[in-house]
Amino acid sequence: MSEPETIVITDPDADRYHTFSYISWWQQEVVRNARVLVVGAGALGNEVLKNLALMGIGNLMIADFDTIEDSNLSRSVLFRAKDNGRRKVDAAAEAVKELNPDVNVLTWHGDINFELGMGVFRHVDVIIGCLDNREARLSINRMSWAIGKPWVDGAIEELMGIVRVFWPGEGACYECTLTDMDYQLIGLRYSCPLLARQNLLKGKVPTTPTSASIVAAFQTQEALKLLHGLEVQPGKAMIINGLTNDIYTTEYPVKKDCLSHNRLEPIEELAGVETAVTTIGELLAEARQRLGPGTVLEFNGELVVSMRCPDCGQEEFIFKSMARLYENAADCPNCGGHRDMNLTHRISGTETFLDRPLAQIDIPPLSIIRARNGSERIYLELTGDVETFLTFS
Ligand SMILES: [Zn+2]
Ligand SMILES: [Zn+2]
Repeated sequence: MSEPETIVITDPDADRYHTFSYISWWQQEVVRNARVLVVGAGALGNEVLKNLALMGIGNLMIADFDTIEDSNLSRSVLFRAKDNGRRKVDAAAEAVKELNPDVNVLTWHGDINFELGMGVFRHVDVIIGCLDNREARLSINRMSWAIGKPWVDGAIEELMGIVRVFWPGEGACYECTLTDMDYQLIGLRYSCPLLARQNLLKGKVPTTPTSASIVAAFQTQEALKLLHGLEVQPGKAMIINGLTNDIYTTEYPVKKDCLSHNRLEPIEELAGVETAVTTIGELLAEARQRLGPGTVLEFNGELVVSMRCPDCGQEEFIFKSMARLYENAADCPNCGGHRDMNLTHRISGTETFLDRPLAQIDIPPLSIIRARNGSERIYLELTGDVETFLTFS
């Protein structure tokens, strides 16, 4: 027997959320305190953000890399013609505030694949993916698995839609659903060592405002259920066929050797560490305090420390993650020759740049960095960034 719920009915004249108070399980307090990360402010993202704002979700982080063009206007309820050329995150945030001033917003303009610290995922309640490509979905999936947070995926094409909740450890994850063909398509785009990001980020999928609003509505509802602890169906897909009006669910098998099934444990929160202030040497010292003198720090990707031109001998410090460089970054600015890169993915204490703050070696705020001593490892979260980076207003 469950306790009868107390329903508080507010004044419809004074409370914009009045109607919600009639819903037995609805907790406006939970909704108001929620932090939701919406990745992608395109057709789906617009609709999801609109719904979240109407419901009074208290804190919205909007992540996107793109700018608005007129062709977006047919499917984007938050954008206007005058927004042409603006960042999608800025126009979306403004429209959300206009729709509901109660909502606090945080915008982040960047590439989710390489530029967002994984700790951000730990400090929000739910992640909603509003994406049009496999690469970004895979990135979200791996981060969500690594730190154990559920995410809601949505996909649209013409009048078809798919909505899926992925919950690490509960049923299949997004990568479990990938076929050899999917990997091939992702591999093709990643085949260049200095990734041609311009192309990668420009996938165009035929969509309508109706399929976007249908799928986004279900996505928002799943997020709302997750926030309230209501039952969801992780690892299953809801398929919506707008041509035949069929809606059905299908369950994916869990892939045993799925590469996403990799939890970072244990994670240590370093409240005093901030990317803008703390140096890489200081972070190494923190790691050695915990794991002993031989400890090294390891990055997931390569850091380009410098580039040197074999033709003219010119050398330049870069301090950028290789994944974030464009194809032409290796061209020598002096003679046009092809420069050699000095790369590292490990900090062992002998580096000449130990006094550089983490931000100045291209480490994003709230990153989680692996510290290893032999077979022992811990994951250090740059938690000091919560105060400065994760601020909703
Ligand atoms: Zn999986
Ligand atoms: Zn040169």
